[in-house]
Amino acid sequence: MSIPTIKHVRAYVVRGGGADYHDQGDSHWIDDHICTPMSKYPEYCQSRQSFGINVLGSLVIEIEDSEGHVGLGVTTAGEIGAYIVEKHFARFLEGARVTDIEKLWDQMFNASLFYGRKGVVINTLSGVDLALWDLLGKVREEPVHVMLGGAVRDELQFYATGARPDLAKDMGFIGGKMPLQWGPAHGDEGLKKNIEKLAEMRSRVGDDFWLMFDCWMSLNVEYATRLAHAAQEYGLKWIEEALPPDDYWGYAKLRQQVPSTMMVTTGEHEATRWGFRMLMEMDCCDLIQPDVGWCGGVTELLKISALADAHGKLVVPHGSSVYSYHFVATRHNSPFAEFLMMAPQADKVVPMFNPLLLDEPVPVNGRLKISELDKPGFGVRLNPECKLHRPYTH
Ligand SMILES: [Mg+2]
Repeated sequence: MSIPTIKHVRAYVVRGGGADYHDQGDSHWIDDHICTPMSKYPEYCQSRQSFGINVLGSLVIEIEDSEGHVGLGVTTAGEIGAYIVEKHFARFLEGARVTDIEKLWDQMFNASLFYGRKGVVINTLSGVDLALWDLLGKVREEPVHVMLGGAVRDELQFYATGARPDLAKDMGFIGGKMPLQWGPAHGDEGLKKNIEKLAEMRSRVGDDFWLMFDCWMSLNVEYATRLAHAAQEYGLKWIEEALPPDDYWGYAKLRQQVPSTMMVTTGEHEATRWGFRMLMEMDCCDLIQPDVGWCGGVTELLKISALADAHGKLVVPHGSSVYSYHFVATRHNSPFAEFLMMAPQADKVVPMFNPLLLDEPVPVNGRLKISELDKPGFGVRLNPECKLHRPYTH
């Protein structure tokens, strides 16, 4: 058989939502007083956009093969990512066979090792990897979940991330994860407000609905421990990303100190098998949350997941919509998935990468049938109404 080869690689930047889901307009819950490591500066406390959370924008990668199939990948990396794809990674991709995914990952990772390893470079590599899996799926006319070994369940069940867990419950989700609003800089008064918010939500959703706090790297061990113990009374299921991602030692300590019924979760800003190896070998958490668009793509997520399985840890990827769903469908240690509520008031279900993709499936009554994913590749298309900007060529 003849295997198609890669002919063209193109990288575009798009503004306004999409993979850079923080790039939203005014009055969106995702930019309304969420606690961050920058909250200690009063001028950057109210809005994450004020310190630049949306500075990158979405990176869109197209990889076209010798038969005219086009693979699509998206991530958060903007113009820096577009430069890396066009000026650096394209040399490995063009001319390679569409099946050379493992080799291409290794070449891109090792060739960028001197300036890469984590962050925007691995975001970029992840986006390319997603485009490669999408392309291979289109060549083989198979969904990505089939190429990953096939689904182990008939449907996915979701928890919702957003400001309104009470509304998420009405929409059929199994849990709701709220952003923490106050951190160490706001002292005991802020901690009290955090707990009041949790108590209020608990009173609205009843005893059995999951409630979680997403702390977005904003706390320290002492504060996170106090928060966890104060939250126990209200049945907090997990405390997420309480500490900066590099503080593996802090996470290990925190996991020992939280109530035994509460999970410590983290990993959305961690990358590669080596980063997650640190989290697992140091026993930093109970559940890891790699983002398939940031951790190294599907190729790397499979390795991270195998490592987690051997350590008895759950893998529930951060956000990333269909790119996660195809993976979650195939793993026994991914029993549920995250859905980011991107409606400005978190009061309805809209596609997570809105408006960038077409055919993006969304949960109905908190669930998604795997059959909804039965299209070649990841099964999504670029919305032609999104304005693509190609800042570099090669
Ligand atoms: Mg999070």
